[in-house]
Amino acid sequence: MNFSSDTSAPAHPLIMEAVAAANRGMAASYGADAWCEAARAAIAAVFETDVEVWLTASGTAANALALSVICPPTGAVLCHEQAHVERDERGAPEFFTGGAKLQLLSGAHGKIDPAALAGRLASDRPGSVHQVPAAALSLSNLTESGAAYSPAEMRVLTDAAKAGGLLVHLDGARFANAVAGTGASPAELTWKSGVDVLSFGATKNGALGVEAIILFGEARQRIGELRERAKRGGHMPPKMRYLGAQLTAYLADGLWLDLAAHANATAAKLAEVLVSEGAAQLAAPVDGNEIFAVLPAETLRRLQQAGALFAPWEGGVHRFVASWATRAEDVDALRACLGARRD
Ligand SMILES: *Cc1c(COP(=O)(O)O)cnc(C)c1O
Repeated sequence: MNFSSDTSAPAHPLIMEAVAAANRGMAASYGADAWCEAARAAIAAVFETDVEVWLTASGTAANALALSVICPPTGAVLCHEQAHVERDERGAPEFFTGGAKLQLLSGAHGKIDPAALAGRLASDRPGSVHQVPAAALSLSNLTESGAAYSPAEMRVLTDAAKAGGLLVHLDGARFANAVAGTGASPAELTWKSGVDVLSFGATKNGALGVEAIILFGEARQRIGELRERAKRGGHMPPKMRYLGAQLTAYLADGLWLDLAAHANATAAKLAEVLVSEGAAQLAAPVDGNEIFAVLPAETLRRLQQAGALFAPWEGGVHRFVASWATRAEDVDALRACLGARRD
């Protein structure tokens, strides 16, 4: 019963096989190999548009590098107060942008409240040398509370951002779960909804370790700067073929969406058991593979005694995560552990 995190899950066998298959003979380095080329083509096909792509080994690197090409050192990145870029990246976005300021907005379940964004944008004074002007908006889908933005919800925020001249970044560490959860297409959840740059996660959903920075539309012109910044920041691994091989296998035959659909369906079952057998109260909608719940003391005690792994969150909430590798038996074990309450 390990529901601690999708980062605790192993890599999917098909991805391991692809890495092993790429491990034959000589190949071009620094992203000029056939596997990275195949990954770029697969991404363009999945997102139904021309893209530029850079691969990194962590989501923090992807977010920080992505923001560094859309926000100058003298600008601000507007993000949710719970955003990973704010809470969990040890200042990497500020470091990689050369000092851009993160400015925090509120809203339920990790989604930015459109009124909060409008209020912040209205306070910008073009021409004032003193203020930090908003230059970028960063959204997360899934959000940090496990909720999913629909394309329409994103559009409200990105339209306001575009009207203010901002570029839009999407932190998609769990993008696959958002696609599987909303039923919207990858295109609808990104460039068709105003996203210029996507951090496309794969690690949490079955890769060994790869995330893609994807530039859409006019932002594609920033690929040269992105490469330079990646190199300067130490994110140009020489044997990039192994990153390309992972991503190619991840996207082949819809594997990524199958894995996310399994994770989401398992999370839905898990949530149902926690609520029905454990009298838990959900603190946020379960739109993807994460559950945030308030647990009665007895439920907490039983789960801890049974050795179930899950994470304490803020405000007395606990987080449970299902991954591609979470088994039906894990959910059954949880049900058995909590069902015993009534005996
Ligand atoms: C996990 C996660 C990341 C990436 O984290 P790394 O540990 O650096 O790979 C980014 N954003 C969100 C919302 C995440 O949950």
